[in-house]
Amino acid sequence: MARVALVTGGTRGIGAAISVALKNAGYVVAANYAGNDEAAAKFTAETGIKTYKWSVADYDACKEGIARVEAELGPIDVLVNNAGITRDAPFHKMTREQWSQVIDTNLTGLFNMTHPLWPSLRERKFGRVINISSINGQKGQFGQANYSAAKAGDLGFTKALAQEGARYGITVNAICPGYIATDMVMAVPEKVREQIIAQIPVGRLGEPEEIARCVVFLASDDAGFITGATMTANGGQYMV
Ligand code: NDP
Repeated sequence: MARVALVTGGTRGIGAAISVALKNAGYVVAANYAGNDEAAAKFTAETGIKTYKWSVADYDACKEGIARVEAELGPIDVLVNNAGITRDAPFHKMTREQWSQVIDTNLTGLFNMTHPLWPSLRERKFGRVINISSINGQKGQFGQANYSAAKAGDLGFTKALAQEGARYGITVNAICPGYIATDMVMAVPEKVREQIIAQIPVGRLGEPEEIARCVVFLASDDAGFITGATMTANGGQYMV
């Protein structure tokens, strides 16, 4: 029977590419999103993938959303924690709201999504949890104290949970994309983008599909011995 995969923020950018790649690999896919109904409707029309609206920053909404997906598609085997936002500001200008929004979505969102699903993964003795962190969680980034803190936190979460899941057939891994051509990066002023590209040894932004292929591999049975790992896909921009 086909495995079921849930991708948060799965209707746009990297998440959309992940949803499509998992569907093409034979998974039954549910794509979650936060509020952009128009993008979600267009995504479903183009791909046939079902979309589900709730915020990963809201624990109860995640619990209800997961129950809805499982009632409609069956037990979830693969969770891709991809939803993320930026609220950039130099630290001396960063507001408490900018801090909290990013932590609530990019870090607490992983708890909110994984915690309600965890008992069923343990019970069924199989699971794949794949967390989309960031190069900026590894190296830090000017103007992103909130985002870098959350994304670094995602890596700690991944390693701790990998230890807890190992005996239950659950692998937990992280992917740290470098700069990928999505709305998030295209929103950066062109001049800044050119400066970013100048720092990438391969000389270009990454494509969402290049991250999606990493996810498909980590979700597969072939990746069963990989857990607690951080996979970087950044064009050589930062090597750890
Ligand atoms: P986009 O801004 O293109 O898309 C973000 C997606 O996340 C949308 O589907 C959006 O839904 C959803 N989303 C945002 N907030 C929430 C929420 N609270 N609950 C549920 N869904 C939410 O982002 P990217 O594709 O660029 O980024 C995807 C992930 O990759 C993020 O975690 C990001 O931090 C990470 N990343 C991105 C990089 C890049 O260069 N683009 C580099 C490194 C990491 P809606 O459409 O409703 O707004």
